[in-house]
Amino acid sequence: MSKQITAAPLRSALPSTVGLLSARLLAVQTYLSELLGVAQVHDLHIWGMSTTEIALTAHLVIPEGHPGDAFLAKVTQDLHDRFGIEHATLQVETGIGDNICPQISCSNR
Ligand SMILES: [Zn+2]
Ligand SMILES: [Zn+2]
Repeated sequence: MSKQITAAPLRSALPSTVGLLSARLLAVQTYLSELLGVAQVHDLHIWGMSTTEIALTAHLVIPEGHPGDAFLAKVTQDLHDRFGIEHATLQVETGIGDNICPQISCSNR
């Protein structure tokens, strides 16, 4: 019983971003992968710029080509509203042809 009492204060004393980031990474990966037209997501990184600000970079493979600014604006807004990410940088690739993205296997999952 005493262990349960001491566990809670310890957990809440940890930097809140640590546990949140890995859970958020998976949720964001799923969200981005399911976007219309997105065939693949890679090089997804989420990190804390400060205790309150979270940044993201990701490559979106969209074979149909660039989806337009409205699409990116919507995704950026969703990342903010649903995942609390203030700074999102999204790179759009078609994945077509011989120009394989050098960061295709880059992931911090
Ligand atoms: Zn990377
Ligand atoms: Zn890439």
